[in-house]
Amino acid sequence: MPRSRISPAEGLTALLGLALAGAGLLLGTGRWRAGGLLAGAAHATFCATAAIPNHPLSGPLVRRFRPEAPDVWLTIDDGPHPESTPAILELLHQHNARATFFVIGRNAARHPGLLQDIAGAGHTLGNHTHHHCTASFWTAGPRRIAREIDEAAAAVAAAGLPPPRYFRAPVGMTNLFVAPALAARGLLRIGWSARGFDTRARTPAAVVGSVMKNCRPGTIILLHERGPAAGVRSLAPLLARLEKRSMRCVLPSDPELIVDGAGQ
Ligand SMILES: [Zn+2]
Repeated sequence: MPRSRISPAEGLTALLGLALAGAGLLLGTGRWRAGGLLAGAAHATFCATAAIPNHPLSGPLVRRFRPEAPDVWLTIDDGPHPESTPAILELLHQHNARATFFVIGRNAARHPGLLQDIAGAGHTLGNHTHHHCTASFWTAGPRRIAREIDEAAAAVAAAGLPPPRYFRAPVGMTNLFVAPALAARGLLRIGWSARGFDTRARTPAAVVGSVMKNCRPGTIILLHERGPAAGVRSLAPLLARLEKRSMRCVLPSDPELIVDGAGQ
């Protein structure tokens, strides 16, 4: 089926642009109340699409894939870190599991050897911005978004590795400026469909329970390198549980990815 020319995100961006232009006209002709209301509505819509993690209206997004076997895609965010990455790699090796590491550019620049270890073990790297500004990335304009993406990509390149093809925003929150920046760089935004909330003070059993509740073939699992219940602490029991259910952690191929909000 051919793709339509305008994606939902592009359509919404155009609509918001029209609304703001209309608000400007109204305000310029002294119709303060109507202009203010229209500008407020456009602003609220922008914030709503940005503030909801994994919102498909803020651009193409992958949250699941279509595996041929009962496979899942394990993604691990916020590394690399010398206290967590080597132990995670060892655990993945023991379970013959593959994962994608969404690395923070600033951390990657400090530890290029860890990036090489990750790639050398057959895992993939994703771009998770350079500074991982959880509170403000979703409010950023096009220039800052481009800088965050490009600096993280440069940190990976400095380790002598190919540029990541996947992107994940800090806490999954983006805005309408992110999609065009990703498209221009050939990056695909990856969300998740099962998470363990392992950055909170929880038991590993609770983390595993949260993941497994939503875990089925084609699920994208979100875990973290750093946090009270993150790293091998929860990954070890999770991998054991997945094995019991005969579910493998694999790296999906492009045709297996299900892209939402791409105007297809
Ligand atoms: Zn993160």
